[in-house]
Amino acid sequence: MNNEEIKKVLLAGNYITLDDYNRAEKNMSRGELLSDYFINEGIITISILGQATAEFYHVSYTNLSSYPISKANILKIPEDLAKKFRVVLVNDEGSEIVVATDNPAQPDLASTLQVLFKNKKINLTYALPETITPLFTAYQKPLETRFSKIIEEKNRIAPEIIDEIIGDAINLNASDIHLEPLVDEVVIRFRIDGVMQEAGRIKKVFYENILNRVKVQAKMRIDEHFGAQDGSIRYQQKDKKFVDMRISVIPTIDGEKIVIRLLGEYVRGLATGDLGLSKEDENTINEAAAKPFGMILVTGPTGSGKTTTLYALVRSLNTPKVNITTIEDPVEYRITGVNQVQVNQATDLTFAKGLRSIVRQDPDIVLVGEIRDQETAEIAVNAALTGHLLLSTFHANDAATAIPRLLDMGIEPFLLASTLELIIAQRLVRRICLHCRHSITLSSVDLQKKFKQAEKFFGNGEVTLYEGKGCEECNFTGFTGRTGIFEFIKITSEIQELILSNPASGQIWEVARKAGTEDLFEDGIDKVKNGITTIEELLRVAEPSKD
Ligand SMILES: [Zn+2]
Repeated sequence: MNNEEIKKVLLAGNYITLDDYNRAEKNMSRGELLSDYFINEGIITISILGQATAEFYHVSYTNLSSYPISKANILKIPEDLAKKFRVVLVNDEGSEIVVATDNPAQPDLASTLQVLFKNKKINLTYALPETITPLFTAYQKPLETRFSKIIEEKNRIAPEIIDEIIGDAINLNASDIHLEPLVDEVVIRFRIDGVMQEAGRIKKVFYENILNRVKVQAKMRIDEHFGAQDGSIRYQQKDKKFVDMRISVIPTIDGEKIVIRLLGEYVRGLATGDLGLSKEDENTINEAAAKPFGMILVTGPTGSGKTTTLYALVRSLNTPKVNITTIEDPVEYRITGVNQVQVNQATDLTFAKGLRSIVRQDPDIVLVGEIRDQETAEIAVNAALTGHLLLSTFHANDAATAIPRLLDMGIEPFLLASTLELIIAQRLVRRICLHCRHSITLSSVDLQKKFKQAEKFFGNGEVTLYEGKGCEECNFTGFTGRTGIFEFIKITSEIQELILSNPASGQIWEVARKAGTEDLFEDGIDKVKNGITTIEELLRVAEPSKD
């Protein structure tokens, strides 16, 4: 409905007065829906809007979000008709049926339904559009059904089945596909926004075919069944677009497991401004990166977005005037103008050896994929000391812990103190879908049920937070994409001095805290309050601050 129609509907049922309307017209923002304005102002509710619209069309109103609808009923109306007329079969008992639609005024609707349900009396009911759309997922055939069809009809099943799996994974924005053999089945799971979800199953007898095809395309040995193998595939989709995939095959007791990572093109275009950094953190990182030498470390567990942050930094530093060289395992994304070296165990090109030869070529900026061992750590610190800006990731839970861990690796305290510029810790949280985001009001008691220390972060009054209802745009999860939460420890002269005394992580944190450092959880709380993510997401990846 457009605003003219909404006005008519609401005035007709006396749900608003002409005064209300005039006030709305004056105060509404451009492009805003009249109904949204009145709902936000508390003049009407969603169910009043539904009720009013139904009355206007002289039909009943059904709140589909609280009405259980069987999938069997939905499927009684063919998909093309259902989507064209936006109808859902709500009830089919005896000689009458009830069909919900968000547009009862469509001319051919009644006659089309009558052809479909010959001897029945048809009752139309009005339902809000946002409650109809989610029900259409009932038409999507599960992967298994599509597999059985392929198996029935084709001789060469592997390519088709792989196409179906990858197609679904791409449609759902999955980052990884796992094919996990069990005793007599193989489970297919997708990682979507960081969370694993089962996508389908396939009988194990068909798996060898699929496994072999993946191995051949990824240039792996097909006669090797007991060793781990890595490879990559440039896969062409049905729409001819390419997607780069990294493949890993690992032996398990029930067979070889395949993990496929879909490499997102978008990371190539990512800048530091897109990471979810606060203005202050963005300034800090740019300041540290502008120095001609020193070391910036990003810490966090696997899958916390460390590499993405470093790539974004490299991209922002990547001008023709500077030489940037990377050593990575593996090279995940190609960046134009950057020399990228791949670690290669077969030719004994390790992080340490690669880094040593890179430094000899005297680049301005060096990115080391990860500092894993003492040798790499020592060369990295030396490089940072002798006029290179060194960027790397390091496996540590928080920023303060990285320092004692590096000292434990045998790095000289004075070398570390004079090279380290900045340590970042980070995690990823899912972003609330902007298409279905709405606000919720929580009392301090509600919040305390979620986590004990709530009062410290939200006070003791009512709090407005946000969540996604779920819509087509976000595949009914309420989330689209992810963003980072960060903890920044800037190496001040005070911390430099502290490093010389072999400090515990607690001591470092104490000093950083006094200088105003926010921890991961606090940065996350800002994003919760601003409606970027939910409190549940934050609690999933970070613990409430202890001090
Ligand atoms: Zn949504």
